Amino acid sequence: KLQTGIVGLPNVGKSTLFNALCEQTKAEAANFPFCTIEPNVGVVTVPDSRLDTLAQIGRSSRIVPTYLEFVDIAGLVKGASQGEGLGNRFLSHIRECDAIVHVVRCFQDENIVHVAGRVSPKQDMETIDTELMLADVALVEKRLERLRKPSGSRRAASAGTATAGAWTEEAERTALERVADTLNAGVPVRRFWSEYATEERQALRRLGLLTAKPVIYAANVADTELATVTNTLVEATTNPEIWREHAATTALVYQVHEYARQEQAPVVAVSAQLESELVDLSPAEREQYLESLGITDLNSIGLRALVRATYETLGLCTFFTCGPQESRAWTIPKGTRAPQAAGVIHSDFERGFIRAETVAYADLVKAGSLSGAREQGLVRSEGKDYVVQEGDVVLFRFNV
Ligand code: GDP
Repeated sequence: KLQTGIVGLPNVGKSTLFNALCEQTKAEAANFPFCTIEPNVGVVTVPDSRLDTLAQIGRSSRIVPTYLEFVDIAGLVKGASQGEGLGNRFLSHIRECDAIVHVVRCFQDENIVHVAGRVSPKQDMETIDTELMLADVALVEKRLERLRKPSGSRRAASAGTATAGAWTEEAERTALERVADTLNAGVPVRRFWSEYATEERQALRRLGLLTAKPVIYAANVADTELATVTNTLVEATTNPEIWREHAATTALVYQVHEYARQEQAPVVAVSAQLESELVDLSPAEREQYLESLGITDLNSIGLRALVRATYETLGLCTFFTCGPQESRAWTIPKGTRAPQAAGVIHSDFERGFIRAETVAYADLVKAGSLSGAREQGLVRSEGKDYVVQEGDVVLFRFNV
């Protein structure tokens, strides 16, 4: 199961963000009975407006979105890799995650103490990365030490290497030496991720390197700045000059943008405080409040955008089932074939898989109904080699 860890220095707004993320799902908790885990693990629904349309087409009595798991990882402070704060315990929590949301404080508030004395996104990101890199260096050194011993004097280095086919200890050592060079130069491994071959990546992921995990940067800004900052981040992709226009408001977020650019990582502006305040407001009050902040649609910015960006970063895609009972979104890794996609719903579906009757979401909407889509020949009958595509609406045929 994929998990995303929320990390950042103390007092940047991690817990506020985590709680706001979990809040929206509480109302739907009945749909996720299998997910009550630990207090710091939250199940967060993935917003998807296509589900509303599907529910109309299928006359479904309910909607079930898909979800992601987030882990609130507190305790990361300078010196963590040396055992400061919660030290190693918190590092091992990150090790189990598949991606990292790095919350960076970009709001000014004299009442909220900053651990380094002043708000400085670049310095904060470097502090966190330094701890992660130090932990990685220790891990790599330990592993290299074992690999360098003559193989007669020890048993197979690990079960992992034995199952990896052509992957030899020699190859692993070469890859790890490159990793060590990168880390010793003060660079997180993820910045050079594209330079590692698939096999090397797998080995490095298996090893649990913290700086090999993909990062999504969440710039936590004041509620009054959310609209401007979000627009700037979007417009900057085509017009870098935009940063100058709103320099007074966006200077701190610009530091995050520049940092993230080095590794082509996404940056999402959030306002943890705003999101946590909205929870207690009536719909009318909400609307008024958002309007006063110049926000027309909170569904595509802030937390929702963060969840979508995480979903993308994890390499996931969504397919749907649609019927009178429910319209439902399901998550699969990109490239998943039909039988394995069926297995996400139920293992019997995978075992007895026969065909997947499939229609693209856009085609179904165009046809207006499933029967209409059938008449127009838009519903395909796909076999076991079919790679399920983003937005496919699927009916699985299977033997019981
Ligand atoms: P954590 O230590 O990173 O988990 O930080 P918390 O979520 O506990 O937040 C620390 C303090 O900062 C709390 O008092 C929050 O209310 C406050 N805080 C969090 N986000 C914001 C924000 O966007 N603006 C302001 N002004 N305060 C915030």
